[in-house]
Amino acid sequence: MKCSQGDSFSKGELQRFGKIELSPSAGVLNYGQGLFEGLKAYRKHDGNILLFRPEENAIRLRMGAERMCMPSPTVEQFIEAVRATVLANERWIPPPGKGSLYIRPLLMGSGAVLGLAPAPEYTFLIYVSPVGNYFKEGLAPINLIVETEMHRATPGGTGGVKTIGNYAAVLKAQGTAKANGYSDVLYLDSVHKRYLEEVSSCNVFVVKGNVISTPAIKGTILPGITRKSILDVARSQGFQVEERLVTVDELINADEVFCTGTAVVVSPVGSITYQNERITYGNDGVGRVSQQLYSALTSLQMGLTEDKMGWIVELK
Ligand code: PMP
Repeated sequence: MKCSQGDSFSKGELQRFGKIELSPSAGVLNYGQGLFEGLKAYRKHDGNILLFRPEENAIRLRMGAERMCMPSPTVEQFIEAVRATVLANERWIPPPGKGSLYIRPLLMGSGAVLGLAPAPEYTFLIYVSPVGNYFKEGLAPINLIVETEMHRATPGGTGGVKTIGNYAAVLKAQGTAKANGYSDVLYLDSVHKRYLEEVSSCNVFVVKGNVISTPAIKGTILPGITRKSILDVARSQGFQVEERLVTVDELINADEVFCTGTAVVVSPVGSITYQNERITYGNDGVGRVSQQLYSALTSLQMGLTEDKMGWIVELK
């Protein structure tokens, strides 16, 4: 789908996956005018295909587009484009319980621009790929390291939207962490270097007794759709949930830590290294709360439990 600045997107069309043509002076290549989304389609036992809260992705894309001076498809256009792309690629959706189809919507400044300014034209496209678990560990615990020097976002910046540059910002810290045997990096706020923010591609939660806490959304962390859903699921299961400033010191006495995201779903954290100290959780096992929330969310997403929240969109 294409659109000029100040205009609306016209109806899209299906195309075979392949290379796309871009001007060397496209806004996305020169000034980083790019946004993406990520969601999954699951195959249900009865043959139906399920999406999880796609309107939330559409709304987040629109918020991001506003921050990045880009036009965006309407919520209806977004969902219709996702639906058409998934149905056209139905054969790639793994059987129930064997994975999902990852859906990657991408919005970019495709028009040519030389001086610093928003691009004159935009392209919205969607591609898909079958996926298994994001972390090779699956539901087994992941090991994080707290990054104290590099930050993925600063107040007033673009950390709260899903723009491509945020991901370039994490490559160095994440690469170093992986080379040293960690699964990923846990970032701190850039001002006090004391409050938890998030992991490179997921949100973080800390469990202490019956209280589940997660850093509040304040412009420097991505408002994860899984995060929002887990807060609701946890509340409905009788946990006390808190969105607030969570200090790095709270990691020491936490019972459990887990991460949430479309790709990682709910990933329990087995250890966190902070200033050369390794804090471990649940005897390197999967914490009870993480396990419980993982089961609740995945069985909902795969259509195994009743969708009381009205979060599932059936495509057939
Ligand atoms: N934070 C970041 C930086 C991410 O890239 C993601 C993945 N989209 C998340 C959090 C989790 O968001 P969601 O639950 O919507 O996938």
